[in-house]
Amino acid sequence: MSTEVDFLIVGHGLAGVILSFELMRRGKSVMVLDQNDPNSASRVAAGIINPVTGHRLNITDKFSEFYPAAKRFYRAFEQHHKTSVFRQVSQSRLIKNQGQYDFLQKRLNDPAYDKVLGNHDKEPDHFLNPQFGAIEVKQSATINTELLLETSQQHLLSVDSLRLQGVDYAALIAQADGFYLQGVKAKRLIFCEGYQAMNNPWLAKLPFKLAKGEIIDLKLDSPLPYLSWGHWLVPQADSQHARLGSSYDWNDLSSDIVHTESLLQSLEKHVGVSVSLMGSRSGIRPTTKHRVPFIGQVRALPNAYCFNGFGSKGCLLIPYYAEHLCDFLLHGSPLASELTQWL
Ligand SMILES: Cc1cc2nc3c(=O)[nH]c(=O)nc-3n(C[C@H](O)[C@H](O)[C@H](O)COP(=O)(O)OP(=O)(O)OC[C@H]3O[C@@H](n4cnc5c(N)ncnc54)[C@H](O)[C@@H]3O)c2cc1C
Repeated sequence: MSTEVDFLIVGHGLAGVILSFELMRRGKSVMVLDQNDPNSASRVAAGIINPVTGHRLNITDKFSEFYPAAKRFYRAFEQHHKTSVFRQVSQSRLIKNQGQYDFLQKRLNDPAYDKVLGNHDKEPDHFLNPQFGAIEVKQSATINTELLLETSQQHLLSVDSLRLQGVDYAALIAQADGFYLQGVKAKRLIFCEGYQAMNNPWLAKLPFKLAKGEIIDLKLDSPLPYLSWGHWLVPQADSQHARLGSSYDWNDLSSDIVHTESLLQSLEKHVGVSVSLMGSRSGIRPTTKHRVPFIGQVRALPNAYCFNGFGSKGCLLIPYYAEHLCDFLLHGSPLASELTQWL
């Protein structure tokens, strides 16, 4: 006897968690299969939502659409599960040189930045040698991804909607009335495997440009705000611990930890606080060559869909795109061709 559901989801990272929640609250039945990888990007992520990135302090494209959708989702999740995963935080960003200071002046005169840039502090407290000061970045937030995953996992297990097992793609049977896989029958199938989509025979050729990242868990001697200077230090909710990150590696995708020393040196050079090292972790971001996610129908497998490619901004992007994918699946609302073109 198979368990019958509307949607079978492969992967319980941020993509699978958020999509399954969205489908269930729209009245659909779901089964999620996950191989419980402790080093998945979603478990390692710092959970930062940051509106302004890069040397030029560019505002993230479509931030004014992504951010409200993210807030809406995390608040709904918190309310449903009586927990707290979304934390709005104020970010102090060091201006590193004259070139960046010049960009800052342009941004401060651009109304598009009114909501995300606050005061320019000429003598910020927490940085060493802040020659060009620091800027307050508003609408920054952190998501407690470990708590989000754990809460979703406990809930889905309790309602028999999650099985902690790897998917053997060779065992998938596709028939006219749906899919049969590992004791589950589903009308439709959604792949959310993050970088491990490279093992999926229908998605292996997607143009990913995977990026390994390392972050460090620290204990703080005294509380600090969210600081960024190219790298970042993000305090945890208890204000005694923080995360420091992160590195980007496009060639070495092994799980080896090699950047602890350089991240700590960067902290010492720019912030100079005393911290205790608790541990280091690495994961692989599902970044894509064209910086656009892969969302939509998998052409080679009717009634199967892909929800992947959220790179280094999963916390911000996934809630918005989960709404869009659900609108497409349940109401036929079109998906932008840039999302579907590689599928
Ligand atoms: C060091 C680091 C720091 C980061 N910091 C941030 C940050 O601050 N803010 C932010 O927004 N993003 C951050 N990210 C990126 C973020 O982690 C990703 O965008 C997001 O987690 C991707 O989620 P996902 O569900 O697509 O993939 P994953 O998290 O990789 O999840 C995929 C899931 O699929 C499962 N799976 C795969 N194959 C199979 C199979 N065959 N059978 C069963 N299950 C399978 C895996 O076990 C896993 O649970 C960071 C990433 C890294 C590595």
